[in-house]
Amino acid sequence: MSDCLFCKMSGGDVQVPRVAENAAAFAIRDINPRAPVHALIIPRRHIAWAQDLGLEDGDTLGAMFELATEVAAIEGVKDSGYRLAFNVGEAAGMTIAHLHLHLVGGRPLGPEG
Ligand SMILES: [Zn+2]
Repeated sequence: MSDCLFCKMSGGDVQVPRVAENAAAFAIRDINPRAPVHALIIPRRHIAWAQDLGLEDGDTLGAMFELATEVAAIEGVKDSGYRLAFNVGEAAGMTIAHLHLHLVGGRPLGPEG
């Protein structure tokens, strides 16, 4: 998708520091963090949102979760705990229509926050 910010980051047209990356996904820090640690795990391939995911995306999702564990270690929250979340749609605060997994931590998190 030529007008997609995360696709531009994936292809290198938009340069952004990466926390870590693997063959299927890359991780960046959120520009508007809601906690001391707030990273986004983004698949290189354009997938609009979680409702488009299916069994055929299993390898991509596995690679995203492997990368999330690596990012948690790099950011120092692997042992203390953190939250992984997909926002789905406008009411959940989804602002970029390219799938991304939020990794949030670095402070005690409430049951929903
Ligand atoms: Zn995209």
